[in-house]
Amino acid sequence: MKIILFGKPNSGKGSRLNEIQKKTKEPIPVLAAGDILRKEVGEGTEIGKLAEQYMSQGLLVPDEVINNMMINKIRQTQGVIVLDGYPRTVQQANAMLEAGEYPDIVIELYVDDEVALDRAKDRTVCKKCGRTYTIVNEGYRPKREGICDDCGSPLVRRKDDEPETARKRQAVYAKDTYPVLDLMQAKGIEVITIDNSTEDASEEFEKLFLSVINKR
Ligand code: ADP
Repeated sequence: MKIILFGKPNSGKGSRLNEIQKKTKEPIPVLAAGDILRKEVGEGTEIGKLAEQYMSQGLLVPDEVINNMMINKIRQTQGVIVLDGYPRTVQQANAMLEAGEYPDIVIELYVDDEVALDRAKDRTVCKKCGRTYTIVNEGYRPKREGICDDCGSPLVRRKDDEPETARKRQAVYAKDTYPVLDLMQAKGIEVITIDNSTEDASEEFEKLFLSVINKR
């Protein structure tokens, strides 16, 4: 079963996933395109070197590179899997469907641009495991400043969270990524939107997510 978690940069996908991992019997495998790319960048691979030129500017990495990378990884998985950050263009969505990889559901986490940009301002990320923290939001602060609760590694700022690049990423999302939702709907795939800026969002997401994975 494939669940696409959809939402603009800083809409809180990572935090919701982190919470849900504590509620399931077994960890749910997540393929997060951005995390996979950052690993490639960190390791200095060919893909990483190419991707960095786009990522540092808040632009999308070319579709062919991403499609090869993600479709291969999807094929290597079995059981329930969450896709985070893929597909991110209509071309990527079509490539995934043409490869026979149909999602069971798309869950969109919605927040306003201003809320998302506010979260980018003070977001920190664990260097090792990728867990994200936000200082403005009480529930998402690390217990010890600058240190990951889960693995004890240092928290760093992502360069693409600086205001100008964060804004650019939002614009790219609106233009290139958002239309993926219409395409999925047109293909008959269920799309459910949750307002991820309300107090009930966490509970709402949990209920939906658990019902999806338990039902099918
Ligand atoms: P966010 O959701 O906060 O923008 P991600 O970690 O998902 O962050 O992505 C960071 C960057 O990685 C993107 O700005 C883009 O350059 C690249 N990237 C991630 N996923 C894709 C994708 N599916 N297609 C093209 N580029 C991608």
